[in-house]
Amino acid sequence: MPEKMLKFVKIGMQMPIKRTSKIRTEDFKEIYNRFVHDKAKEQSSRCSQCGVPFCQVHCPLHNNIPDWLKLTAEGRLQEAHELAHSTNNMPEICGSICPQDRLCEGNCVIERAGHGTVTIGSVEKYITDTAWEKGWIKPIKVLKEIDQSVGIIGAGPAGLACAEELRKSGYKITIYDRYDRPGGLLIYGIPNFKLEKFAVERRTNLLKESGITFKQNFEVGKDISLVELKKKHDAILIATGVYKPREIEIPGSNLKNIFPAMEFLMASNRKGLGDRVENFDNGILNAKNKDIIVIGGGDTGMDCVRTAVRQNAKSVKCLYRRDRENMPGSAREVYNAEEEGVEFIWLSNPKKFIGTSQVSSMLVERMKLGKADSSGRKKPEPILSSEFEMKVDMVIKALGFDPEDLPRLFESPDLFISKWGTIKINLKTMETNIPGVFGAGDIVRGASLVVWAIRDGRDATVSIRKYLEHKRSKNEKAA
Ligand SMILES: Cc1cc2nc3c(=O)[nH]c(=O)nc-3n(C[C@H](O)[C@H](O)[C@H](O)COP(=O)(O)OP(=O)(O)OC[C@H]3O[C@@H](n4cnc5c(N)ncnc54)[C@H](O)[C@@H]3O)c2cc1C
Ligand code: SF4
Repeated sequence: MPEKMLKFVKIGMQMPIKRTSKIRTEDFKEIYNRFVHDKAKEQSSRCSQCGVPFCQVHCPLHNNIPDWLKLTAEGRLQEAHELAHSTNNMPEICGSICPQDRLCEGNCVIERAGHGTVTIGSVEKYITDTAWEKGWIKPIKVLKEIDQSVGIIGAGPAGLACAEELRKSGYKITIYDRYDRPGGLLIYGIPNFKLEKFAVERRTNLLKESGITFKQNFEVGKDISLVELKKKHDAILIATGVYKPREIEIPGSNLKNIFPAMEFLMASNRKGLGDRVENFDNGILNAKNKDIIVIGGGDTGMDCVRTAVRQNAKSVKCLYRRDRENMPGSAREVYNAEEEGVEFIWLSNPKKFIGTSQVSSMLVERMKLGKADSSGRKKPEPILSSEFEMKVDMVIKALGFDPEDLPRLFESPDLFISKWGTIKINLKTMETNIPGVFGAGDIVRGASLVVWAIRDGRDATVSIRKYLEHKRSKNEKAA
């Protein structure tokens, strides 16, 4: 294996592509799979069973990592899979897309000692992929159906995890989602070069086979109000994620060919899933042969630049108003993007979009970093008379997401929200101020991670179960 590929495989990273590279992605995947297969055991046996499992502490699901590594090292894969599944509803998905450098692997004792982390995410994925291959993962067989139902709004990881856990207890579950496919950001946000969509579909199909009902193309707020939905179920979980794109208010913002990140990523993901996407097929949302500028230095921005590279853009630039050290996106993703030919224009801020009907260039001003603000981050300040113009065919705005106005959308003005627009819950019970209505995932935390959404979904299950048991016993006493 070429030295460069080996480096990426060792640390469990996605190999960046280069358009000039002789290594095709498919070749890489094949070698990667073979390598992971052979090396999972070796990696697992590197775990020192240190007795101070910081990896486990820093995994939001507190996965029993040392034990499933030990079982893998001993070749007891079915037991490893059962253990991995006991705390995580989608181990292969987390194994692929968790920012392990900030969670489990970043806190591995061997890594801290400077010997390179155990590639925990890759082993977790390997264990679960093997379990799928061997047919060890089966639909839920409910032992005793319970005549109570839960309506879950949102088929993202938070909603799916909660649905699965409640179904195991025998409750009737209906998931409502406004998209045509379940999965939330797993299916339409995260690009398919990071997460293969068949892995998401495999999970949601399993839930369907487990007796969970999915109502797609069904928008709560449009097709039904929260009050009406509540009448249909014994409890409700709101797991709608955050989707309102942050805007940039500068002259020329209404010109054509300026898109929010989700529109661009969703079109690309839909194409990957084989859909007809008019605005991609007619070239509008396709980066091919275009000069692309992505505004924003977060992980979504990195997904956009790397997607544009894969669509064969002529050039891809990323504008960020702070410097490399102060950008929010993962350093690993910046490295990948740079390897793929993306140019980062640090300390720069868009001032104006220029064009007649569609954008053709941007006026950009240079920034410098001033004093730290209340969050401790250095505040970017414009440098006077530093403007310069950049040619562009398509601008992608990746400035983050805010929650939609749920009380208005759901026709529930009584639903409490925080000053950020996220729904307020009792942190112990995950219940909102409306009895029997719970919240989980990004709509509670703000834009976060898949693994935290799963954790929330699982935590909500515990409280919903208690709530339903109490409701049932109250009804039985009253009868
Ligand atoms: C581009 C991008 C890349 C990301 N990459 C990563 C990554 O690599 N690793 C990682 O851990 N995290 C990543 N994240 C974050 C991660 O995807 C989210 O934190 C996670 O998906 C949140 O899960 P959720 O279930 O709360 O919401 P979502 O996944 O957003 O799902 C919410 C669901 O609710 C539905 N919905 C919303 N409103 C309604 C309504 N009114 N009626 C019915 N249905 C509704 C939506 O259609 C959606 O299906 C990324 C996010 C983005 C945007
Ligand atoms: S779920 Fe994420 S943080 Fe936890 S062990 Fe797996 S990859 Fe690491």
